[in-house]
Amino acid sequence: MDLKTLHSISYGLYLITSKYGERINGQIANTVFQISNDPPTIAISINKQNLTNEFIKNSRMFAVSILAEETPLPLIGQFGFKSGRDMDKFADVNYKTTTHGLPYLEDEAIAYIEAKLVQDVDAGTHTIFIGEIIGAEVLRKGNPMTYAYYHQVKKGSTPPSAPTYIKSERRSEMGDKYVCTFCGYEYDPEAGDPENNIAPGTAFENLPDDWVCPVCGADKDAFEKIA
Ligand code: FE
Repeated sequence: MDLKTLHSISYGLYLITSKYGERINGQIANTVFQISNDPPTIAISINKQNLTNEFIKNSRMFAVSILAEETPLPLIGQFGFKSGRDMDKFADVNYKTTTHGLPYLEDEAIAYIEAKLVQDVDAGTHTIFIGEIIGAEVLRKGNPMTYAYYHQVKKGSTPPSAPTYIKSERRSEMGDKYVCTFCGYEYDPEAGDPENNIAPGTAFENLPDDWVCPVCGADKDAFEKIA
């Protein structure tokens, strides 16, 4: 069985949000898809250990922000690699709320959808939530971020709690690859980190001391050589 076949499935990148009383929370997910037309329904898959899972079960509502390609990696890191149990993820973020009080990203999303829960399906590590769309708005023109774009162009990473997480293989044409032990971001010397002025071909050892993980902000000490 070759699990690399799963790399051929295409996905998007979304911020899923929900609330619990007055508290709001959100997380990044790559699995959002339309199920039916009439009534219009969508499904999402959320790890049972994530706070957002608990919030959706409590409020029986969730919202989806469809992220634009330009969405900065640190924002994805903030929602994808940190837990709302430790912090208020929305504290320093520009957001608006839907008519039912669910947050969505007004700057980074090109559209949002709001849904009320109609069914939840136990899928082992994850819950599949099926929701009927009760609100939706296109915010602006732009390209939605695909999962492939996130990985190949933005050099984003996948946390082990995601349904699509697969341990990567070592690759070292231009020096060793290093992985961030916090978020799973991989530094590939062949690609460098152009968004932070690190030219392709820069070995990990030659990164400046003040370079930090472009996804989660961890410093160089948090990185391990991929063996
Ligand atoms: Fe990181």
